[in-house]
Amino acid sequence: MQDYNPEQAILTARREFGEFGGVTPSIARASTFTVLDPDEMSCLFEGTKGPDIDKSYLYSRHFNPTVNLLSRYLAAMEGTEAAVCTASGMAAISCTLMQLCKAGDHIISSNAIYGGTYALLDKLLPEMNISTTFVDPVNIDEIKAAIRPETKVIFAETAGNPILKVTDIPVIAGIARENNLTFVVDNTFMPMIISPAVLGADIVIYSMTKFINGASDLLSGAICADKSFINRLMDLHTGRAMLFGPTMDPRCAFDIIQRLPHLALRMKEHSRRAQAIAEALFSLNVPVTYPGLPSFPQYETISALINRGYGYGGLLTVDCLTREKAGEFLSYLQNKMQFGLIAVSLGYFDTLMSCSGSSTASEINPDDQQKMGLSNGLVRMSIGLTGSLEERVNQIESTVKALRMNCI
Ligand code: PLP
Repeated sequence: MQDYNPEQAILTARREFGEFGGVTPSIARASTFTVLDPDEMSCLFEGTKGPDIDKSYLYSRHFNPTVNLLSRYLAAMEGTEAAVCTASGMAAISCTLMQLCKAGDHIISSNAIYGGTYALLDKLLPEMNISTTFVDPVNIDEIKAAIRPETKVIFAETAGNPILKVTDIPVIAGIARENNLTFVVDNTFMPMIISPAVLGADIVIYSMTKFINGASDLLSGAICADKSFINRLMDLHTGRAMLFGPTMDPRCAFDIIQRLPHLALRMKEHSRRAQAIAEALFSLNVPVTYPGLPSFPQYETISALINRGYGYGGLLTVDCLTREKAGEFLSYLQNKMQFGLIAVSLGYFDTLMSCSGSSTASEINPDDQQKMGLSNGLVRMSIGLTGSLEERVNQIESTVKALRMNCI
């Protein structure tokens, strides 16, 4: 286990108060910013003035004070020099990859990733002559063998969506360093639990639509990296985040700023509840996968990566084997037990559950789903925080017994 404390790291970042001494920061909603002297404008364009230099701003697609504040807190949390916020997780992923790769370049990606990212790598980027080799993230020899002269990036998720395959970040970071590649890690499933940059990753990506925001009421993303990469992303003439323009709205940044102080509490509670529910399912012989169970195939690997005190995360999967059985399980849990909601996404305060093969991984063709080990009947559950835990465990046990799931 790691002793890094992301909660403390945020607390030690300089706290910002509102314009009139408000205990919350103010929301800077201006799209553009005025200068006293016309010469200052050219300095802003040349980069001799700016938010980091003298707190001067130009235009909110470039930098905005409220969005910058959230970026600063996120960089502190991840232990990176800087961060930039985006309008969605996909915006963070696509801008990062488009910044790192040009036509002719090659990416090595884990095959256990979110369906939208898979589609970007498998279908869209090849149209721009950027190719990807998908590999089993656990198979280090396969990763090494996939490296070519034109390879620029290794991409992985900390615990792959949806099957929770764990990336051994320090090992892959070592391979990336030896071969002069940039190692990009999507840590959407594990904020605070795992700190990829502290473990050696170059760039950490988030869909903040999930746990970081926690209320399923907005879309957002983040890229945490060193200053030079963030400056390249925001360059006025070539920066992908600047020129594709997936800008975060300052009102959205404010909402997330207000929820970051209880992210640690929430992650610990998501983990505590997911652990208890996974243990209950395991003891009923249900095929459950949860990183915190000693039966988890990479239990040792993940145990070495996690920050002490945050548990093993809020996500677990149950393999119902067929789509029909998965449907029965989901509908019983939602409609008879009020255990959670059938919905895609994750990281909400209520439990969200879906059958991944026909939803968030449906962009991945059936052959590739099989290659990544995704069964047709796999139900992904993002365990929420509401209701008493005892009651939730009773609900899941009653469902298993009613559907005789331990017989599958
Ligand atoms: N990364 C992961 C691991 C995800 O699960 C998702 C969405 O489900 C994304 C990225 C994309 O995030 P967004 O929907 O905010 O664009």
